[in-house]
Amino acid sequence: MRKVSIFGATGSIGQNTIDLIAREPERYDVVALTGGANVSQLAKDAIRLGADVAVTAYDENLDDLRAALAGSGIEAASGQTALVEVASRPADWVMSAIVGSAGLAPGIEALKQGATLALANKETLVCAGRLVLETARRHGAGLLPVDSEHSAVFQALVGEDMSAVERIIITASGGAFRDWPIEDLARATVEQASCHPNWNMGQRITIDSASMFNKALEVIETHEFFGVEPDRIEVLVHPESMVHALVGFRDGALMAHLGAPDMRHAIGYALHWPERRDLPVERLDLAKLGQLHFRTPDESRYPALRLAREVMERGGLAGAAFNAAKERALDLFIDRKIGFLEMADRVEAVLSRFEMDNGLLDLPMTLDNVLETDHLARRWLDEAVVTRAG
Ligand code: NAD
Ligand code: MG
Repeated sequence: MRKVSIFGATGSIGQNTIDLIAREPERYDVVALTGGANVSQLAKDAIRLGADVAVTAYDENLDDLRAALAGSGIEAASGQTALVEVASRPADWVMSAIVGSAGLAPGIEALKQGATLALANKETLVCAGRLVLETARRHGAGLLPVDSEHSAVFQALVGEDMSAVERIIITASGGAFRDWPIEDLARATVEQASCHPNWNMGQRITIDSASMFNKALEVIETHEFFGVEPDRIEVLVHPESMVHALVGFRDGALMAHLGAPDMRHAIGYALHWPERRDLPVERLDLAKLGQLHFRTPDESRYPALRLAREVMERGGLAGAAFNAAKERALDLFIDRKIGFLEMADRVEAVLSRFEMDNGLLDLPMTLDNVLETDHLARRWLDEAVVTRAG
């Protein structure tokens, strides 16, 4: 039996992971499940899967978690220290599906134990790519992509030599506002941004899809994970979300990965890798689909994509600053304190402030420095003053 843990078990990726694991309970020995305030879901899944321990991220939810687990013999714990502690318990395969940079420390801890980390949490690579890859290498741990585009690239690269790769193209649906006139974006509401045309995901990544901050993070993730230079990474808007990514080789061949927009494909690939096993996902009928569309994204519409290129060029801790500023801007947008376009304006202001503060982004990439950069970027995002015409 394989020992598995799921961080962020109550979220969209976590629940899809549980769906796959629960279909073959005889194959898995579940160690830890973690979640947030939704302790009834967390306890229910921990009992159903026979986990050793369940952790809520928030101390104020611990009593409720204990009550929900009463009589099950399953251990309950809470808080950031507990998240890292359970990540240190031996597991063969760990799903990293916490949202945001909160997923970084538990992920690094799992790598230190030599686990294979299935990485849905793209923030881990955006904030600390070099540190994470180096930790995995030093401890003989594995890293597998779960983001659909990166899983697609990974699959297109099987049996290939990286030196034959000319470019990587990741697709973007364009999110909720892909067909909106640009003048209307300033007034876009949280409700409007929270409706994804193709994918059913957590609210934060759904809004990040509308602003293209999600794709911006993914371009950086591609750069870190596959070690491909930024100018060889392209983004294509593809409204149908059927082609997830393409790899272009030096002989001109393009290998595309197609599949229905269902995260259980990428999760299942990482779960069963290097094998392929049956997955309960829809099979594409291309004849029925008839046509697929592609277009170049308009960077004036999506400043996040330009910022991602600047961040990759800057290197160092710029990814940690960018991600944290983006997370905080998203908090303010969700709380209706700033408008949709002000998110990118403020993030850009924070990056400029880091640039003026000599050397902050060039500190060594340790976990402590990444987390300090993260805190500072969030504070500066709150302080950022931006003026926008109209
Ligand atoms: P979600 O909001 O549905 O779930 C997030 C999970 O993290 C929940 O279990 C929540 O309780 C937990 N969590 C939230 N804040 C936390 C904190 N501060 N500390 C500890 N735990 C916390 O998110 P999701 O859509 O499942 O996304 C999870 C990750 O996967 C994100 O990094 C996202 O970018 C990535 N991802 C998601 C999808 C998708 O289809 N949902 C696709 C690709 C990548
Ligand atoms: Mg993705």
